Amino acid sequence: MEGWAGCDMDTDKIQILDCPICGYYSGRIWSETIYHAFRCKKCGVIFCGHKASRFLYDEDYFCRWYIKPFQKRKRYLKKILRKIEKFVELPEGNYLDVGCGAGIFLDIAKENRWQATGMDISTAAVDYCRKKNLNVIPGDLAESGFQSEQFDVVSLFDVIAHLENPVNYLREIRRIIKSSGVLIIKTPRHPPRLFHIACFLRFTRKSRVILHIPAQIFHFNECSLRKICSLSGFDTVSVFRTNDLPCFFLKHGPVDMVLTFLYLFLKIFCGDDSVVAICRKKL
Ligand SMILES: [Zn+2]
Repeated sequence: MEGWAGCDMDTDKIQILDCPICGYYSGRIWSETIYHAFRCKKCGVIFCGHKASRFLYDEDYFCRWYIKPFQKRKRYLKKILRKIEKFVELPEGNYLDVGCGAGIFLDIAKENRWQATGMDISTAAVDYCRKKNLNVIPGDLAESGFQSEQFDVVSLFDVIAHLENPVNYLREIRRIIKSSGVLIIKTPRHPPRLFHIACFLRFTRKSRVILHIPAQIFHFNECSLRKICSLSGFDTVSVFRTNDLPCFFLKHGPVDMVLTFLYLFLKIFCGDDSVVAICRKKL
């Protein structure tokens, strides 16, 4: 895993890379300017060769993706939690929401009287949560110094796709989660078909927008998500697909209508657009 993400290799000349999840070989499926995406021939994970940048997650980012659609995203997250509770009973105790963003999960936790702590590297996100009196810690999980087996539930909503080294990250979560604890991961699902559509749109030099690149580095499917959980010391209780919030519906206007049709087109051709994994620690 170390040595590929963000290394100084000339990715422009590289057509094949070893998969950072399963080690099998992968081929390049999309490129645009300095950005490239490779797909593993075995587990199907799609990964990019660029570094994560915390500068992407400024006030504008959170305002656009999370603060403006706060209530809609909250309803959507509640729907996911109801699905999760069909597979596993969420234990009482300490919850940690890694990459809590605008605090949508923390808000739900407060309503349910769960003891939840949020964590985020973005100062804009942390400031926003604090204004809402939500319990949030600034910084990165790797530097947090949490005690071993401190948490009963750890959640990662739309976080794992943004990490340079998700295996090490999940291993740190394994350390801080209790033996009886539950790990919840939700991540966008961008199938190869979406990358093929993006290839046709490369002439616009904006095709990366539909792939959420450069913010997103890993694009998991059900198989690769199971694989990374197993590699990190978790058993998967269930993996299911779900439909993400159509953000284009949030505003109305001619441009938004075009985007709405684009969204529907992509939906018909690419299917469900998120995948959720519920995991328990391997004992
Ligand atoms: Zn792989």
